[in-house]
Amino acid sequence: MPLYSYKHRADDSDCAHAPYFEWEQVARDWPLTSCPFCGAPVERVLCAPAIKKRLFNSELRDKGFTKLVRVDDGIFENVTRRDGEAKYYDRRHPETAPILEKTIKD
Ligand SMILES: [Zn+2]
Repeated sequence: MPLYSYKHRADDSDCAHAPYFEWEQVARDWPLTSCPFCGAPVERVLCAPAIKKRLFNSELRDKGFTKLVRVDDGIFENVTRRDGEAKYYDRRHPETAPILEKTIKD
């Protein structure tokens, strides 16, 4: 599944995943219009400025990106997670992330 880059519209967003994050989705899906983490408006960008080539997850993390990989229907793994971040996100219920982390096995 292709990865798409999204940018928070607001320059002063205090979201942990601003300004850019990556979201894995099938091409026919509608683009996200709001951040799955903070709910703020986002827009899809063709190529984030820092990404000129395929980067390792650790490089993406170092550059401040968040990369989410779909592991199940609506469930995404944060493969660039930092200390204190949940490993899994439920796209439909972001508030359940800590619970999912406990219930989904590696
Ligand atoms: Zn956000």
